[in-house]
Amino acid sequence: MLKRQRTGSVLCTSCGVLVGVNDERCYNCNRKNPGLWGFAPALRSLGTDLGFVPFVIGACATLYVLTLIASQGNIGMRGLFSLFSPSPQALFLFGESGAVPVFVAGRWWTVLSAAWLHAGVLHIVFNMMAVRQLAPVTADLYGPGRMVIIYTAGAVFGFALSSIAGAYIPPLLFLRGGQFTVGASASIAGLIGAMLAYGHRTGSSAASSQASSYILMLAVYGFMLPGIDNYAHAGGFAGGYLAARALDPMKPERIDHIAMAVACLALSILSIVASVLHGLQFLG
Ligand SMILES: [Zn+2]
Repeated sequence: MLKRQRTGSVLCTSCGVLVGVNDERCYNCNRKNPGLWGFAPALRSLGTDLGFVPFVIGACATLYVLTLIASQGNIGMRGLFSLFSPSPQALFLFGESGAVPVFVAGRWWTVLSAAWLHAGVLHIVFNMMAVRQLAPVTADLYGPGRMVIIYTAGAVFGFALSSIAGAYIPPLLFLRGGQFTVGASASIAGLIGAMLAYGHRTGSSAASSQASSYILMLAVYGFMLPGIDNYAHAGGFAGGYLAARALDPMKPERIDHIAMAVACLALSILSIVASVLHGLQFLG
């Protein structure tokens, strides 16, 4: 899949000028190894067709089925939002986040893995519909690489805040931290944060007002439906906003961003593998 170019010239992964594929430094921006060992063209083509939406949906669906299988018949059917919900043990094994996994079991990497797990059939369907709607829009604004970075930042900030709140902040009305929490919605809130950041940075009122209507929707759902992790949404939104400001939509996406996006996805996969390997000891 990743073909390596050994001769000729490529675009610098940082500034985009033509450099020799084997040059040690970019003559323009002074970046070390501007051709990324000859992998720059492959990463660039990955960027134009990253296929992130099908990747997320495929990975989440696969993990949902795996957690159902790991539930060994103990599949929840209580209430609308816990129809076909994997067992608590299975969700823990695959890397749910929250105060208990993070602070009691020491599974800090679950701030990454939890975004790929879902607690019921409606939960996964609603979240994947939101990913299908928001991920391509964000990729249009930032490029697919930066969209993946923003998506990952949303998960990390969202589940970190929810876990910290679950451990240290007493529940207040509809604001309660997660003891156990999963779902792509922290990342989705991150995409919404990035849309607002785009509006603020570029002055696009279309982006700002679109983002505001999504924020309102998140707030209304969070207020009306029981069991919504509002801390995860708020943290995810803040993480996406901050990542988006740091990545600056006024500047074009660089191949470096695609490389960082690949690293984000690799770390996410690794966090699930680590969860399962580390979690087996708890099942005895
Ligand atoms: Zn350069």
